Amino acid sequence: MKDNKSDPQSGGDSPRKIPEETEEQLRKTFENFPPEVQRQLRDLMEKAETLEDFAAFALTGPCPRCGNELTRDGESAAAEDEEGDPTVGECSECGFHWCLDCGRELSSWPCPHWEAWEEYCRKHQIYQGEDGHLEEGYAQDYIEWLRRNYPDTTGM
Ligand SMILES: [Zn+2]
Ligand SMILES: [Zn+2]
Repeated sequence: MKDNKSDPQSGGDSPRKIPEETEEQLRKTFENFPPEVQRQLRDLMEKAETLEDFAAFALTGPCPRCGNELTRDGESAAAEDEEGDPTVGECSECGFHWCLDCGRELSSWPCPHWEAWEEYCRKHQIYQGEDGHLEEGYAQDYIEWLRRNYPDTTGM
């Protein structure tokens, strides 16, 4: 429950911060998505206060624990001088942290699935590329590996 008016300048104006043209464009983009996805995105658009929030909610997906949709990834949630982890989901409602790649609760960081993946790479001689440059096919291998090992994950 919060009813504090933190922004004195906005007066009695509507709290919506996504510009109308942008919203219109987004709705057009949604038209190609399945109806269920469209419904969720529209719903999110109404809850989001800014475009950044909307993008964060849309990319992160609902909280696996409480179903809250106002979630964000670690990168969006981090303070400006902090380095956030874009593969971590955070729930503003219940404080749950989870891994966006494997969908598991994050009890330690980095997520244990990374170690399993590194192990798999060593065994199958998957070359990850130079630092910061992912080898072609690497991302595909990774996604396939995730799907095989964490088939219940919807995050990708
Ligand atoms: Zn939650
Ligand atoms: Zn993980």
